[in-house]
Amino acid sequence: ASGSLSLKESLEKKIADSGIDATVKLTGCLGPCSKGPVLKVNPDSVIYENVHDEDIDLIVKEHLGDGRVVESLTWKNVSDGESFARQPDIPFFKEQTPIVLRNCGNVDPANIYDYIGHDGYQGLAMALKGMKPLCVIEEVIQSGLRGRGGGGFPTGKKWEFTALEKSDIKYVLCNADEGDPGAFMDRSVLEGDPHSLIEGMIIAGYAIGSSQGYVYVRVEYPLAVERLNQAIYQAREAGLLGKNILGSGFDFDLGIRMGSGAFVCGEETALINSIEGKRGEPRPRPPFPAQKGLWGKPTLLNNVETYANIAPIIQRGAAWYGTYGSEKSKGTKVFALAGSINNSGLVEIPIGTPLGEVIYDIGDGMKEGKHFKAAQIGGPSGGCIPREYLNVPLDYDTLKELGAIIGSGGLIVMDEDTCMVDMARFFLEFVQEESCGKCVPCRVGTKRMLEILNRICEGDGEEGDIDKLVELGHQIQQTALCGLGQTAPNPVLSTIRHFRNEYVEHIRDKH
Ligand code: SF4
Repeated sequence: ASGSLSLKESLEKKIADSGIDATVKLTGCLGPCSKGPVLKVNPDSVIYENVHDEDIDLIVKEHLGDGRVVESLTWKNVSDGESFARQPDIPFFKEQTPIVLRNCGNVDPANIYDYIGHDGYQGLAMALKGMKPLCVIEEVIQSGLRGRGGGGFPTGKKWEFTALEKSDIKYVLCNADEGDPGAFMDRSVLEGDPHSLIEGMIIAGYAIGSSQGYVYVRVEYPLAVERLNQAIYQAREAGLLGKNILGSGFDFDLGIRMGSGAFVCGEETALINSIEGKRGEPRPRPPFPAQKGLWGKPTLLNNVETYANIAPIIQRGAAWYGTYGSEKSKGTKVFALAGSINNSGLVEIPIGTPLGEVIYDIGDGMKEGKHFKAAQIGGPSGGCIPREYLNVPLDYDTLKELGAIIGSGGLIVMDEDTCMVDMARFFLEFVQEESCGKCVPCRVGTKRMLEILNRICEGDGEEGDIDKLVELGHQIQQTALCGLGQTAPNPVLSTIRHFRNEYVEHIRDKH
Protein backbone atom coordinates (compact mmCIF):
# COMPACT_ATOMS: atom_id res chain seq x y z
CA ALA A 1 0.00 0.00 0.00
CA SER A 2 2.88 2.37 0.68
CA GLY A 3 4.74 1.54 -2.54
CA SER A 4 7.22 -1.20 -1.55
CA LEU A 5 6.79 -3.17 -4.76
CA SER A 6 7.84 -0.35 -7.10
CA LEU A 7 10.66 0.41 -4.70
CA LYS A 8 11.86 -3.18 -4.98
CA GLU A 9 11.92 -2.94 -8.77
CA SER A 10 13.90 0.33 -8.69
CA LEU A 11 16.32 -1.18 -6.20
CA GLU A 12 16.91 -4.31 -8.26
CA LYS A 13 17.47 -2.28 -11.41
CA LYS A 14 19.85 0.13 -9.71
CA ILE A 15 21.87 -2.70 -8.12
CA ALA A 16 22.09 -4.52 -11.47
CA ASP A 17 23.16 -1.30 -13.28
CA SER A 18 25.83 -0.51 -10.73
CA GLY A 19 27.26 -4.06 -10.66
CA ILE A 20 27.19 -4.20 -6.84
CA ASP A 21 27.05 -7.67 -5.32
CA ALA A 22 23.78 -7.48 -3.37
CA THR A 23 20.40 -9.18 -3.52
CA VAL A 24 16.95 -7.80 -2.74
CA LYS A 25 14.69 -9.93 -0.57
CA LEU A 26 10.98 -9.26 -0.24
CA THR A 27 9.76 -10.06 3.27
CA GLY A 28 6.61 -9.67 5.29
CA CYS A 29 6.01 -6.69 7.53
CA LEU A 30 8.65 -5.59 10.06
CA GLY A 31 5.97 -3.93 12.16
CA PRO A 32 6.28 -0.15 12.03
CA CYS A 33 3.39 0.76 9.70
CA SER A 34 3.83 4.51 10.11
CA LYS A 35 7.43 4.27 8.86
CA GLY A 36 6.77 2.27 5.71
CA PRO A 37 8.14 1.45 3.24
CA VAL A 38 11.01 0.22 5.38
CA LEU A 39 14.26 -0.99 3.85
CA LYS A 40 16.76 -2.99 5.89
CA VAL A 41 20.36 -3.43 4.77
CA ASN A 42 22.03 -6.62 5.96
CA PRO A 43 24.38 -7.70 7.40
CA ASP A 44 24.62 -4.19 8.90
CA SER A 45 21.03 -4.35 10.23
CA VAL A 46 20.52 -0.73 9.22
CA ILE A 47 16.92 0.43 8.82
CA TYR A 48 15.81 3.15 6.43
CA GLU A 49 12.31 4.55 6.97
CA ASN A 50 9.73 6.08 4.63
CA VAL A 51 11.93 5.24 1.63
CA HIS A 52 10.92 6.75 -1.70
CA ASP A 53 12.02 5.96 -5.25
CA GLU A 54 14.26 9.03 -5.29
CA ASP A 55 16.18 7.74 -2.21
CA ILE A 56 17.28 4.56 -3.94
CA ASP A 57 20.21 6.09 -5.83
CA LEU A 58 21.73 7.40 -2.61
CA ILE A 59 21.27 4.17 -0.64
CA VAL A 60 22.76 2.02 -3.41
CA LYS A 61 25.67 4.34 -4.11
CA GLU A 62 26.61 5.33 -0.55
CA HIS A 63 25.61 2.35 1.56
CA LEU A 64 25.82 -0.67 -0.75
CA GLY A 65 28.66 0.81 -2.81
CA ASP A 66 30.82 2.73 -0.32
CA GLY A 67 29.66 1.20 2.98
CA ARG A 68 28.53 4.57 4.42
CA VAL A 69 25.17 4.75 6.20
CA VAL A 70 22.88 7.43 4.73
CA GLU A 71 22.11 9.14 8.03
CA SER A 72 19.46 11.45 6.60
CA LEU A 73 17.23 8.45 5.77
CA THR A 74 17.61 6.45 8.98
CA TRP A 75 14.99 6.07 11.71
CA LYS A 76 13.98 9.20 13.58
CA ASN A 77 11.90 9.41 16.74
CA VAL A 78 9.08 11.87 16.20
CA SER A 79 8.89 12.81 19.89
CA ASP A 80 12.51 13.95 20.41
CA GLY A 81 14.08 13.87 16.93
CA GLU A 82 16.72 11.33 18.01
CA SER A 83 18.07 9.19 15.12
CA PHE A 84 19.04 5.56 15.06
CA ALA A 85 20.59 3.52 12.29
CA ARG A 86 20.78 -0.10 13.45
CA GLN A 87 17.63 -2.07 14.16
CA PRO A 88 18.79 -3.35 17.59
CA ASP A 89 19.25 0.26 18.76
CA ILE A 90 15.83 1.53 17.68
CA PRO A 91 13.49 1.71 20.72
CA PHE A 92 10.54 0.44 18.66
CA PHE A 93 12.37 -2.88 18.12
CA LYS A 94 14.62 -2.92 21.19
CA GLU A 95 11.74 -3.10 23.64
CA GLN A 96 10.02 -5.98 21.84
CA THR A 97 10.35 -9.76 22.20
CA PRO A 98 9.53 -11.37 18.88
CA ILE A 99 8.50 -15.02 19.27
CA VAL A 100 5.37 -15.08 17.09
CA LEU A 101 6.82 -12.43 14.76
CA ARG A 102 10.31 -13.97 14.90
CA ASN A 103 10.55 -14.32 11.15
CA CYS A 104 8.34 -11.48 9.93
CA GLY A 105 10.59 -9.06 8.14
CA ASN A 106 13.41 -11.63 8.03
CA VAL A 107 12.27 -14.51 5.86
CA ASP A 108 10.89 -14.57 2.36
CA PRO A 109 7.37 -15.93 2.91
CA ALA A 110 7.34 -17.39 -0.59
CA ASN A 111 10.39 -19.58 0.03
CA ILE A 112 10.13 -22.56 2.39
CA TYR A 113 13.90 -23.00 2.40
CA ASP A 114 14.35 -19.52 3.83
CA TYR A 115 12.03 -20.54 6.69
CA ILE A 116 13.95 -23.81 7.14
CA GLY A 117 17.19 -21.80 7.15
CA HIS A 118 15.79 -19.85 10.12
CA ASP A 119 15.24 -23.04 12.20
CA GLY A 120 11.88 -23.66 10.55
CA TYR A 121 10.33 -27.15 10.96
CA GLN A 122 12.90 -27.98 13.67
CA GLY A 123 10.15 -28.06 16.30
CA LEU A 124 8.15 -30.45 14.12
CA ALA A 125 11.18 -32.70 13.59
CA MET A 126 11.84 -32.78 17.34
CA ALA A 127 8.21 -33.65 18.09
CA LEU A 128 7.95 -36.39 15.48
CA LYS A 129 11.33 -37.97 16.12
CA GLY A 130 11.64 -37.77 19.86
CA MET A 131 8.35 -37.04 21.64
CA LYS A 132 5.21 -39.03 22.23
CA PRO A 133 1.98 -37.08 21.49
CA LEU A 134 1.17 -36.79 25.20
CA CYS A 135 4.65 -35.37 25.86
CA VAL A 136 4.00 -32.68 23.25
CA ILE A 137 0.75 -31.80 25.01
CA GLU A 138 2.49 -31.77 28.40
CA GLU A 139 5.10 -29.36 27.03
CA VAL A 140 2.38 -27.01 25.79
CA ILE A 141 0.57 -27.26 29.17
CA GLN A 142 3.80 -26.52 31.04
CA SER A 143 4.54 -23.52 28.83
CA GLY A 144 1.46 -21.77 30.20
CA LEU A 145 0.42 -20.67 26.70
CA ARG A 146 -3.16 -19.37 26.63
CA GLY A 147 -5.30 -18.99 23.52
CA ARG A 148 -4.44 -15.73 21.80
CA GLY A 149 -7.76 -15.38 19.97
CA GLY A 150 -9.47 -13.60 22.83
CA GLY A 151 -10.72 -16.19 25.31
CA GLY A 152 -7.34 -16.88 26.92
CA PHE A 153 -8.17 -20.56 27.62
CA PRO A 154 -5.08 -22.69 28.45
CA THR A 155 -3.98 -24.09 25.08
CA GLY A 156 -2.43 -27.32 26.37
CA LYS A 157 -5.63 -28.20 28.24
CA LYS A 158 -7.66 -27.72 25.08
CA TRP A 159 -5.27 -30.05 23.26
CA GLU A 160 -5.54 -32.61 26.06
CA PHE A 161 -9.36 -32.60 25.98
CA THR A 162 -9.33 -33.25 22.22
CA ALA A 163 -6.59 -35.88 22.47
CA LEU A 164 -8.53 -37.84 25.10
CA GLU A 165 -11.63 -38.15 22.89
CA LYS A 166 -11.86 -41.54 21.19
CA SER A 167 -12.48 -41.14 17.48
CA ASP A 168 -10.94 -42.40 14.25
CA ILE A 169 -11.29 -38.90 12.74
CA LYS A 170 -10.34 -35.65 14.42
CA TYR A 171 -9.75 -32.18 13.00
CA VAL A 172 -7.35 -29.34 13.65
CA LEU A 173 -8.77 -25.93 12.75
CA CYS A 174 -7.18 -22.53 12.64
CA ASN A 175 -9.22 -19.41 13.11
CA ALA A 176 -7.73 -16.85 10.73
CA ASP A 177 -10.98 -14.89 10.50
CA GLU A 178 -9.51 -11.84 12.18
CA GLY A 179 -12.30 -9.28 12.10
CA ASP A 180 -11.75 -6.78 14.93
CA PRO A 181 -11.56 -3.21 13.67
CA GLY A 182 -7.92 -2.14 13.96
CA ALA A 183 -6.48 -5.67 14.30
CA PHE A 184 -4.05 -7.21 11.81
CA MET A 185 -1.83 -9.52 13.88
CA ASP A 186 -2.88 -12.75 12.18
CA ARG A 187 -2.76 -11.16 8.77
CA SER A 188 0.88 -10.23 9.27
CA VAL A 189 1.84 -13.79 10.26
CA LEU A 190 -0.08 -15.28 7.31
CA GLU A 191 1.47 -12.85 4.86
CA GLY A 192 4.94 -12.69 6.39
CA ASP A 193 5.58 -16.15 7.85
CA PRO A 194 2.90 -18.68 6.83
CA HIS A 195 5.06 -21.71 7.61
CA SER A 196 5.09 -20.86 11.33
CA LEU A 197 1.33 -21.46 11.34
CA ILE A 198 1.57 -24.62 9.25
CA GLU A 199 4.28 -26.05 11.50
CA GLY A 200 2.21 -25.34 14.63
CA MET A 201 -0.84 -27.01 13.10
CA ILE A 202 1.07 -30.16 12.08
CA ILE A 203 2.46 -30.46 15.63
CA ALA A 204 -1.08 -30.03 16.98
CA GLY A 205 -2.33 -32.75 14.61
CA TYR A 206 0.37 -35.12 15.83
CA ALA A 207 -0.41 -34.30 19.48
CA ILE A 208 -4.16 -34.92 19.31
CA GLY A 209 -4.15 -37.72 16.70
CA SER A 210 -5.59 -35.85 13.71
CA SER A 211 -4.67 -36.25 10.07
CA GLN A 212 -6.57 -33.28 8.60
CA GLY A 213 -6.57 -29.59 9.32
CA TYR A 214 -8.25 -26.52 7.84
CA VAL A 215 -7.35 -22.86 8.01
CA TYR A 216 -10.46 -20.68 8.03
CA VAL A 217 -9.28 -17.40 6.58
CA ARG A 218 -11.24 -14.29 5.74
CA VAL A 219 -11.85 -13.49 2.11
CA GLU A 220 -10.70 -9.90 2.67
CA TYR A 221 -7.10 -11.18 3.03
CA PRO A 222 -6.23 -12.16 -0.57
CA LEU A 223 -2.46 -11.89 -0.14
CA ALA A 224 -2.62 -14.00 3.02
CA VAL A 225 -4.58 -16.67 1.13
CA GLU A 226 -2.11 -16.59 -1.75
CA ARG A 227 0.92 -16.94 0.56
CA LEU A 228 -0.75 -19.68 2.58
CA ASN A 229 -1.66 -21.64 -0.54
CA GLN A 230 1.87 -21.36 -1.78
CA ALA A 231 3.30 -22.39 1.59
CA ILE A 232 1.01 -25.43 1.82
CA TYR A 233 2.06 -26.50 -1.69
CA GLN A 234 5.75 -26.10 -0.84
CA ALA A 235 5.36 -27.98 2.45
CA ARG A 236 3.72 -30.89 0.57
CA GLU A 237 6.53 -30.89 -1.99
CA ALA A 238 9.09 -30.97 0.81
CA GLY A 239 7.40 -33.95 2.52
CA LEU A 240 6.24 -31.87 5.48
CA LEU A 241 2.55 -32.34 4.73
CA GLY A 242 0.83 -35.46 3.43
CA LYS A 243 1.71 -39.09 4.07
CA ASN A 244 4.48 -40.30 6.36
CA ILE A 245 5.83 -36.87 7.33
CA LEU A 246 9.62 -36.93 7.76
CA GLY A 247 9.48 -40.75 7.68
CA SER A 248 7.65 -40.82 11.02
CA GLY A 249 4.58 -42.73 9.82
CA PHE A 250 2.41 -39.71 10.77
CA ASP A 251 0.01 -38.40 8.08
CA PHE A 252 -1.40 -34.89 8.08
CA ASP A 253 -2.69 -32.53 5.43
CA LEU A 254 -4.08 -29.01 5.36
CA GLY A 255 -6.77 -27.20 3.40
CA ILE A 256 -8.04 -23.63 3.29
CA ARG A 257 -11.65 -22.60 3.80
CA MET A 258 -12.73 -19.05 3.13
CA GLY A 259 -14.86 -16.93 5.43
CA SER A 260 -17.08 -14.32 3.83
CA GLY A 261 -16.75 -11.40 6.15
CA ALA A 262 -19.09 -12.24 9.05
CA PHE A 263 -17.52 -11.20 12.35
CA VAL A 264 -19.49 -13.87 14.23
CA CYS A 265 -17.66 -16.59 12.27
CA GLY A 266 -14.68 -15.91 14.51
CA GLU A 267 -16.73 -17.64 17.23
CA GLU A 268 -15.63 -21.26 17.19
CA THR A 269 -18.95 -23.00 16.71
CA ALA A 270 -20.10 -20.47 14.07
CA LEU A 271 -16.80 -21.03 12.27
CA ILE A 272 -17.43 -24.78 12.29
CA ASN A 273 -20.95 -24.24 10.92
CA SER A 274 -19.52 -22.06 8.18
CA ILE A 275 -16.96 -24.69 7.12
CA GLU A 276 -19.77 -27.24 6.99
CA GLY A 277 -21.56 -24.97 4.53
CA LYS A 278 -24.24 -23.94 7.01
CA ARG A 279 -25.25 -20.47 8.07
CA GLY A 280 -22.53 -18.97 10.28
CA GLU A 281 -24.41 -19.05 13.58
CA PRO A 282 -23.04 -20.17 16.93
CA ARG A 283 -24.22 -23.47 18.42
CA PRO A 284 -25.08 -23.90 22.09
CA ARG A 285 -22.27 -25.44 24.13
CA PRO A 286 -21.91 -28.16 25.42
CA PRO A 287 -21.10 -30.19 23.45
CA PHE A 288 -17.79 -28.39 23.01
CA PRO A 289 -15.83 -28.72 19.76
CA ALA A 290 -13.30 -30.94 21.57
CA GLN A 291 -16.12 -33.50 21.88
CA LYS A 292 -18.29 -32.78 18.87
CA GLY A 293 -16.96 -30.24 16.44
CA LEU A 294 -16.51 -30.26 12.68
CA TRP A 295 -18.87 -32.82 11.11
CA GLY A 296 -19.58 -34.11 14.61
CA LYS A 297 -15.96 -35.15 15.21
CA PRO A 298 -13.56 -34.03 17.98
CA THR A 299 -12.03 -30.77 16.83
CA LEU A 300 -9.21 -28.59 18.06
CA LEU A 301 -9.48 -24.92 17.25
CA ASN A 302 -6.87 -22.22 17.92
CA ASN A 303 -6.05 -18.97 16.22
CA VAL A 304 -3.04 -18.05 14.07
CA GLU A 305 -1.01 -16.44 16.85
CA THR A 306 -1.50 -19.41 19.19
CA TYR A 307 -0.22 -21.90 16.58
CA ALA A 308 2.71 -19.63 15.69
CA ASN A 309 3.93 -20.01 19.30
CA ILE A 310 4.03 -23.80 19.18
CA ALA A 311 7.22 -24.58 17.23
CA PRO A 312 9.45 -22.36 19.43
CA ILE A 313 7.90 -23.91 22.57
CA ILE A 314 8.69 -27.43 21.37
CA GLN A 315 12.11 -26.45 20.10
CA ARG A 316 13.28 -24.42 23.09
CA GLY A 317 11.12 -25.89 25.82
CA ALA A 318 8.32 -24.82 28.13
CA ALA A 319 10.77 -23.51 30.74
CA TRP A 320 12.29 -21.12 28.21
CA TYR A 321 8.83 -19.87 27.18
CA GLY A 322 7.89 -19.39 30.84
CA THR A 323 10.72 -16.91 31.32
CA TYR A 324 8.60 -14.40 29.37
CA GLY A 325 5.40 -12.91 30.67
CA SER A 326 3.88 -12.59 34.13
CA GLU A 327 3.27 -15.26 36.74
CA LYS A 328 -0.18 -16.26 35.51
CA SER A 329 0.15 -15.22 31.86
CA LYS A 330 3.22 -16.63 30.15
CA GLY A 331 4.86 -15.69 26.89
CA THR A 332 4.30 -12.72 24.63
CA LYS A 333 1.33 -11.06 22.97
CA VAL A 334 1.17 -9.29 19.62
CA PHE A 335 -0.73 -6.01 19.63
CA ALA A 336 -1.86 -3.90 16.70
CA LEU A 337 -1.01 -0.40 17.86
CA ALA A 338 -3.16 2.25 16.21
CA GLY A 339 -4.74 5.64 16.79
CA SER A 340 -3.12 8.87 18.01
CA ILE A 341 0.35 7.41 18.43
CA ASN A 342 3.58 8.23 16.61
CA ASN A 343 4.65 4.65 15.87
CA SER A 344 1.59 2.75 14.78
CA GLY A 345 2.08 -0.86 13.77
CA LEU A 346 2.52 -4.37 15.08
CA VAL A 347 4.36 -4.95 18.33
CA GLU A 348 5.09 -8.10 20.30
CA ILE A 349 5.78 -7.70 24.01
CA PRO A 350 6.07 -9.98 27.02
CA ILE A 351 2.64 -10.27 28.64
CA GLY A 352 2.62 -8.04 31.70
CA THR A 353 4.46 -5.13 30.08
CA PRO A 354 2.93 -1.86 31.38
CA LEU A 355 0.74 0.00 28.93
CA GLY A 356 2.83 3.16 29.43
CA GLU A 357 5.94 1.39 28.10
CA VAL A 358 4.06 0.33 24.99
CA ILE A 359 2.81 3.84 24.35
CA TYR A 360 5.86 5.91 25.21
CA ASP A 361 8.89 3.62 24.66
CA ILE A 362 7.75 1.50 21.72
CA GLY A 363 5.05 3.80 20.36
CA ASP A 364 7.20 6.96 20.72
CA GLY A 365 4.40 8.86 22.47
CA MET A 366 1.30 10.64 21.33
CA LYS A 367 0.90 12.32 17.96
CA GLU A 368 1.39 16.10 17.82
CA GLY A 369 2.42 16.17 21.49
CA LYS A 370 -1.16 15.57 22.64
CA HIS A 371 -2.01 13.98 25.99
CA PHE A 372 -2.93 10.36 26.40
CA LYS A 373 -6.55 9.93 27.41
CA ALA A 374 -7.28 6.20 27.14
CA ALA A 375 -6.55 3.06 25.14
CA GLN A 376 -9.26 0.74 23.85
CA ILE A 377 -7.89 -2.76 24.20
CA GLY A 378 -9.44 -5.94 22.84
CA GLY A 379 -11.46 -4.35 20.03
CA PRO A 380 -15.26 -4.42 20.19
CA SER A 381 -15.18 -7.08 22.91
CA GLY A 382 -12.76 -5.12 25.06
CA GLY A 383 -12.71 -2.06 27.22
CA CYS A 384 -10.80 1.13 27.78
CA ILE A 385 -7.85 1.80 30.06
CA PRO A 386 -7.66 5.42 31.22
CA ARG A 387 -4.60 7.49 32.02
CA GLU A 388 -4.41 6.59 35.73
CA TYR A 389 -3.75 2.95 34.80
CA LEU A 390 -0.78 3.56 32.49
CA ASN A 391 1.40 1.56 34.86
CA VAL A 392 -0.78 -1.52 35.07
CA PRO A 393 0.66 -4.66 33.50
CA LEU A 394 -1.08 -5.79 30.32
CA ASP A 395 -2.07 -9.30 31.35
CA TYR A 396 -5.28 -11.32 31.32
CA ASP A 397 -6.14 -11.00 35.00
CA THR A 398 -5.26 -7.35 35.59
CA LEU A 399 -7.23 -6.25 32.55
CA LYS A 400 -10.24 -8.29 33.64
CA GLU A 401 -10.26 -6.41 36.96
CA LEU A 402 -10.34 -3.15 34.98
CA GLY A 403 -13.31 -4.29 32.88
CA ALA A 404 -11.19 -4.82 29.74
CA ILE A 405 -9.70 -7.87 28.02
CA ILE A 406 -6.56 -8.50 25.98
CA GLY A 407 -8.85 -9.96 23.33
CA SER A 408 -7.15 -10.67 20.06
CA GLY A 409 -4.80 -7.69 20.57
CA GLY A 410 -6.28 -4.54 19.07
CA LEU A 411 -4.88 -1.51 20.92
CA ILE A 412 -6.30 1.83 19.87
CA VAL A 413 -4.72 4.84 21.55
CA MET A 414 -6.84 7.96 22.07
CA ASP A 415 -5.88 11.53 22.93
CA GLU A 416 -7.63 14.29 24.84
CA ASP A 417 -9.81 15.20 21.84
CA THR A 418 -11.58 11.82 21.74
CA CYS A 419 -15.19 11.62 22.88
CA MET A 420 -15.43 8.35 24.80
CA VAL A 421 -19.20 8.12 24.33
CA ASP A 422 -18.76 8.36 20.59
CA MET A 423 -16.00 5.76 20.71
CA ALA A 424 -18.26 3.35 22.61
CA ARG A 425 -21.01 4.01 20.07
CA PHE A 426 -18.66 3.12 17.20
CA PHE A 427 -17.89 -0.31 18.67
CA LEU A 428 -21.49 -1.00 19.66
CA GLU A 429 -22.65 -0.09 16.17
CA PHE A 430 -20.12 -2.55 14.79
CA VAL A 431 -21.26 -5.50 16.95
CA GLN A 432 -24.90 -4.60 16.47
CA GLU A 433 -24.47 -4.89 12.72
CA GLU A 434 -22.50 -8.10 13.12
CA SER A 435 -24.96 -9.77 15.52
CA CYS A 436 -26.17 -12.94 13.80
CA GLY A 437 -29.64 -12.46 15.29
CA LYS A 438 -29.99 -15.97 16.68
CA CYS A 439 -30.65 -14.96 20.29
CA VAL A 440 -32.85 -12.19 21.67
CA PRO A 441 -30.49 -10.56 24.23
CA CYS A 442 -27.92 -9.78 21.56
CA ARG A 443 -30.23 -9.15 18.61
CA VAL A 444 -32.65 -6.86 20.45
CA GLY A 445 -30.57 -5.81 23.46
CA THR A 446 -27.67 -4.34 21.49
CA LYS A 447 -30.16 -2.51 19.27
CA ARG A 448 -31.84 -0.90 22.29
CA MET A 449 -28.44 0.04 23.71
CA LEU A 450 -27.44 1.60 20.40
CA GLU A 451 -30.68 3.61 20.26
CA ILE A 452 -29.94 5.01 23.72
CA LEU A 453 -26.34 5.81 22.78
CA ASN A 454 -27.43 7.49 19.56
CA ARG A 455 -29.81 9.77 21.38
CA ILE A 456 -27.17 10.61 24.00
CA CYS A 457 -24.64 11.46 21.25
CA GLU A 458 -27.19 13.51 19.35
CA GLY A 459 -28.01 15.59 22.42
CA ASP A 460 -31.38 13.94 23.15
CA GLY A 461 -30.31 11.87 26.14
CA GLU A 462 -32.73 11.41 29.03
CA GLU A 463 -32.18 11.24 32.77
CA GLY A 464 -31.84 7.56 33.59
CA ASP A 465 -30.30 6.61 30.23
CA ILE A 466 -26.96 5.73 31.81
CA ASP A 467 -28.64 3.37 34.28
CA LYS A 468 -30.61 1.78 31.47
CA LEU A 469 -27.39 1.20 29.51
CA VAL A 470 -25.77 -0.44 32.53
CA GLU A 471 -28.77 -2.65 33.25
CA LEU A 472 -29.17 -3.73 29.64
CA GLY A 473 -25.43 -4.29 29.32
CA HIS A 474 -25.33 -6.62 32.33
CA GLN A 475 -28.38 -8.54 31.13
CA ILE A 476 -26.85 -9.08 27.69
CA GLN A 477 -23.52 -10.15 29.19
CA GLN A 478 -25.28 -12.80 31.26
CA THR A 479 -27.82 -14.12 28.77
CA ALA A 480 -26.43 -13.89 25.22
CA LEU A 481 -25.64 -17.20 23.58
CA CYS A 482 -22.12 -16.62 22.35
CA GLY A 483 -19.02 -14.55 23.05
CA LEU A 484 -19.97 -11.86 20.56
CA GLY A 485 -23.12 -10.93 22.47
CA GLN A 486 -21.65 -11.60 25.91
CA THR A 487 -18.85 -9.10 25.28
CA ALA A 488 -20.75 -6.62 23.09
CA PRO A 489 -21.64 -4.26 25.99
CA ASN A 490 -18.01 -4.13 27.24
CA PRO A 491 -16.93 -0.87 25.52
CA VAL A 492 -20.08 0.88 26.78
CA LEU A 493 -19.84 -0.46 30.34
CA SER A 494 -16.14 0.25 30.54
CA THR A 495 -16.47 3.84 29.31
CA ILE A 496 -19.33 4.41 31.76
CA ARG A 497 -17.11 3.04 34.53
CA HIS A 498 -14.12 5.23 33.71
CA PHE A 499 -15.69 8.25 31.93
CA ARG A 500 -19.20 8.51 33.38
CA ASN A 501 -18.81 12.27 33.51
CA GLU A 502 -18.75 12.44 29.70
CA TYR A 503 -22.10 10.65 29.47
CA VAL A 504 -23.49 12.97 32.14
CA GLU A 505 -22.20 16.04 30.26
CA HIS A 506 -23.79 14.90 26.99
CA ILE A 507 -27.16 14.51 28.73
CA ARG A 508 -26.80 17.70 30.73
CA ASP A 509 -25.93 19.71 27.60
CA LYS A 510 -29.43 19.05 26.36
CA HIS A 511 -31.09 20.72 29.31
FE1 SF4 B 1 -25.82 -14.43 17.41
FE2 SF4 B 1 -25.35 -12.40 19.12
FE3 SF4 B 1 -26.66 -14.53 19.96
FE4 SF4 B 1 -24.03 -14.71 19.37
S1 SF4 B 1 -24.94 -13.54 21.03
S2 SF4 B 1 -25.65 -16.17 18.84
S3 SF4 B 1 -23.94 -13.26 17.65
S4 SF4 B 1 -27.35 -13.12 18.35
